[in-house]
Formats: sequence, structure tokens, C-alpha cells
Amino acid sequence: APVTRFAPSPTGFLHIGGARTALFNWLYARHAGGRMLLRIEDTDRERSTQEAIDALIDGLKWLGLDWDGDVVYQFQRAARHREVAESLIASGGAYYCYTTPEELAAMREAARAEGRPPRYDGRWRDRPASDVPPGVKPVVRLRAPLDGETLIDDKVQGRVTFANKDLDDFVLLRSDGAPTYMLAVVVDDHDMGVTQIIRGDDHLTNAARQMQIYAALGWSAPAMAHIPLIHGADGAKLSKRHGALGIDAYRAMGFLPPALRNYLVRLGWSQGDREFFTTEEMIEAFDLAHVGRSPARFDFAKLENMNGHYLRATPDAELAASLEETLPFLPGGADLQRALDDDKRAKLLAAMPGLKERAKTLIELLDGAAFLFATRPLQLDAKAAEILAAGGRAHIAGVLPLFRALDDWSAASTEAAVRDYASATKLKLGQVAQPLRAALTGRSTSPGIFDVLAVLGREESLGRLEDQAA
Ligand code: GLU
Repeated sequence: APVTRFAPSPTGFLHIGGARTALFNWLYARHAGGRMLLRIEDTDRERSTQEAIDALIDGLKWLGLDWDGDVVYQFQRAARHREVAESLIASGGAYYCYTTPEELAAMREAARAEGRPPRYDGRWRDRPASDVPPGVKPVVRLRAPLDGETLIDDKVQGRVTFANKDLDDFVLLRSDGAPTYMLAVVVDDHDMGVTQIIRGDDHLTNAARQMQIYAALGWSAPAMAHIPLIHGADGAKLSKRHGALGIDAYRAMGFLPPALRNYLVRLGWSQGDREFFTTEEMIEAFDLAHVGRSPARFDFAKLENMNGHYLRATPDAELAASLEETLPFLPGGADLQRALDDDKRAKLLAAMPGLKERAKTLIELLDGAAFLFATRPLQLDAKAAEILAAGGRAHIAGVLPLFRALDDWSAASTEAAVRDYASATKLKLGQVAQPLRAALTGRSTSPGIFDVLAVLGREESLGRLEDQAA
């Protein structure tokens, strides 16, 4: 069974592109009944932080992408990487290089002058041991092939070839013995039994170099799939400005994990023009053959619409539970969490059908529910105040006795009372409903007003109306 891996560098947050890479690896493994491994590429000690590692793991868990086995930390495997580099020296596949920083700078300068990319010139490839300068710590370089081509038979990009003369003898071990990313990735993928690499196509040139390491070691390389990077709506590579935020920012914006998964799977993969996939359907349908070769565009409005669809499709109790779980991450949510007692919880659940019709994100859902948490006397927004000032109060005063006389308090009974009042006064229903809404919610928009009355209950509703009737 196939083995994939997600191999993030913990130097920043899990951004949307990384999340999609993780999702594709996860889907590929789950589809085939294989395994997805997680490797934290923390070899860059200066830039890797524990905070970033925690955020990566938290983000994957929130997105519902689980991995198999223990997390592998690349830095802990440095001794193994060195061992492989030394075996390459022994076999002649690599060599010590004593080139000084000044010499390297001169090579770069010459390349710049000639307008070509900088390239190590191989000066220590075949130099005898007698030339070794005293006191200089060498790096270890791959003895890369000088002519011919390196081929990547990529499942997304097709056959990609690199002329070997363009790939120099790159470094495997630094002079302090630290393995480079290029070496570590190959050794780890090999040792972890990875059979399929799926990652961004910004790694394509690295893939060619990694193929050369595999060849030098006599190891068979995993299959490759390099997926086009995500671009912004304007076609430029995705940057912060386009929403290339950490995955935690999407949680704080009130997106649901299944909606985000559904949105992400469609960024670069398709099955006809089908938009909606449950997670099971995604696992069933996912393949690399239908990953496109051109960059997908990140479209925030589309993500919001998809999330709105998922909000409406989620059963009320489940949605209330995810809202409650997400509260600590939503703006102002921590306060609401403190206010959320059993009574409020029951009211929230009762209001859910009306609330989810009008919201695209949990933030909007929460905003719509604000009337449940408001305390008397309500603060009115400008429109609500205007409705009440423009004759609304008189209608509230008119409806109040009918409401007080009701034996049973429900959406149906309050509606009947309002209809009676409207027909007796020859008003349209809306002319009565708007002032009621303003008084009950402090706003000019809300879920259906009779549902609002039912959810708030008799005592709270009458209290709010009395506050505004005068
Ligand atoms: N650590 C690399 C990155 O975060 C990915 C390496 C790989 O997938 O081979 O870009």
C-alpha cells in the first residue's frame, strides 16, 4: 500500500497551500488504504520554532487530517544523514570540498558577469589528498553527473528533464557536519518507506537534485507529483494580501473544517464540474490524474459560499456544538463563552434554523445570535432606533395587550396576535413586524420575527417590548 508524507518546515504557519498539500497527501493515502506520515523538517535551527510546530499540528488536527505513526523530527535524524553522506564518500558518489568562501564569491561574481546562474565549478572533484589545506573544514558535495539528463516522470507535470550540466555538485553536509535539506529529504523519504511524494511545484528543481542523490545511493526513488502553487484571484502567486494566512486565521474567520476541506480539494483537483464532496466522497474520488497543470486561483467569495452551504447542511445540534467549540477563537467569542449557560444554549439551538439561513460563517452566525445574548435595556442600532422613532413605538404598545393575553407562547400564537392587530388597524404585517424586530433584537434584520419571539420566550419578549413601548 502507498505511503505518502506531509513534510512542512516549521518556520511559519500552516498556510493555505501547505494545508492543501497535506490534504492531497492524506486523500491519496486514504483512497488507496495506505499511510500518510508526518515529518517536521526542522533542520533549519535558526528559523524553526516550537510555536510553529504546535501551530502546524493544531492546524492539521483542526482540519481533520490525521497521520499514521509518530511524528518524525528531521533534526533528530542528523546522525543518520551524516552516515549516509559518509557512505557516499566511501563509494565515490560524494567528495570533500575545501573551497573557501572567497573562492565561492568569485565564482558567483563570474557567473553574474556572464549573465548565467551561479554554479560550483567542481574544483575539488578530483583533487588529490595532498592538496588539502591544513585547518580548513570541508563540506561534502555530491559527485553529480556532468552530462546527460536527469528525468522526473511526474504524475502531474509529465516528463520533466533537467540537463545535468545545469545542476552543479551541490552540498550534502555543511562544514559543521550539518546535513542539508536536500540530503535529509532523500534519506528520510527512503528510510520512512515513502512511495509517493506530493508537494508544490516550487520543489521541482529540488526533485532533480534529489533524483541524483537516489541514483548515487542506488536507491529507488518514490513516485513524484508536483502540484501547481495556488494563485490569488488576480493570477499572481498567493501572498498574504490574497488570504495566504495561517490555517488558524480561517478558524477565527468562522469557516468549518469540512467546508474548508471541500474548498481546498477543488483547488487544483476536479471531477468534472462537481463542487460538493463529503469527506468520504473525496477519499473515494481523489486521484492524481485529475490534478491540473495550471495554478488554481484562491477565491474568498467562493470559500464563503461553500461555507454557507455547509452551515445550512449541518444539523442544528452539531452546528451549535462546532460554534461552541470555536468560540474561543472567534472575535469576542471568549466573552460569549462565559455567558453561555444552559438557558442560552437551549435558546441558541432553538434559533439555529433561522440563524443558519442568513450566515456564511460562524462569525455571521454569532452576529445573528447577538440578540439572544443582549441584556435589557437593549442597545439599538441606528436603523432600529429610526424605526421606533418613526411611529414604531405606538404599534408595540398596540400589540402588547394581545401578547399579554396569550395563554400559550409560540411562533404560531404570537403570529396570530400580530395578524389580528394588523388587520384591525389596516396595517401590513411588515409595518408591525419591523418595530417588533427593532425592539426585540435592536436591529432591522434578524431571523423571522415570530421565531425570535418564540426563542426569547414570553417574559423576555414582553420585557423588551415594554422597554420600547413608551
Ligand atoms: N519542507 C519542505 C517545505 O515545507 C517540503 C519538503 C518536501 O515536501 O519534500 O516546503
